[in-house]
Amino acid sequence: MFWAGDDPSKTLANLTRLGIRCGQLGIPGDLDLNCLPQWRSALQAANFTVTSIVVAYTGEDYSDIPTVERTVGFIPPATRDAREQRTYQVIEAAAQIGARGVSLHVGFVPEDSHHPDYLAMRDLVRRLCDSAAKRKQTFALETGQESAPALLDFIRDVDRANLGINFDPANMILYGTGDPIEALGILAPRVLSVHCKDGDWPPPGHPTALGKEQPLGKGAVGMERFVSKLQEIGYKGPLTIEREGTDAAQWLVDIESGIRLLENLKRSLS
Ligand code: MG
Repeated sequence: MFWAGDDPSKTLANLTRLGIRCGQLGIPGDLDLNCLPQWRSALQAANFTVTSIVVAYTGEDYSDIPTVERTVGFIPPATRDAREQRTYQVIEAAAQIGARGVSLHVGFVPEDSHHPDYLAMRDLVRRLCDSAAKRKQTFALETGQESAPALLDFIRDVDRANLGINFDPANMILYGTGDPIEALGILAPRVLSVHCKDGDWPPPGHPTALGKEQPLGKGAVGMERFVSKLQEIGYKGPLTIEREGTDAAQWLVDIESGIRLLENLKRSLS
């Protein structure tokens, strides 16, 4: 998973050098979408497939749990409409570069299904799913901020055929939401794509803190358990590595070692 922003040809050259042929393209909230035609040409030239587009918004802050609650996705009322409009634009841009899906963090879904924020989010996600469906795209919610049963209830309530999950096992750990392998079993029928990401549980005694993301294989997920569970549920999609908290040079090093780890696991589990 990589972000648009830098030179498309250079970004793709770095990835194809590692043998990567497909990935998820992140669109930062402040990206001028007029650069997407450049991405389309570069993707074609590199014979690289964008499997889905990851949507992010200006003003989101993942410092700790209360800040995430306050700033991420569609919960903050002040930015809700603007973010909805931006998402329609990104859905359209995704179609132009041939991406078959979009995914995002909608923010913490309120536990009370009668709460006005819950109802607003449910209706908003319905509208976004319908917009994506018109372009034959799937629409995926990123896991992490809700327990698996709560996320499943929300998906059933939204009730759209193209709605599913981008399953990120590290997020379940970083947010202290629950065991990711168990959650994957519960959410299996709705998993459209996955992030291979790792991380540690939040520090004990700090209920508002998030855990720390780690390079693949160095955190608490247990990549062998994760890949093995993906096989068990019959997942056939790409294993998309996500690595966030590093500079560009270390990012490439961590992605490369992540690829080696996953290739070894796939060999040993086959
Ligand atoms: Mg993720």
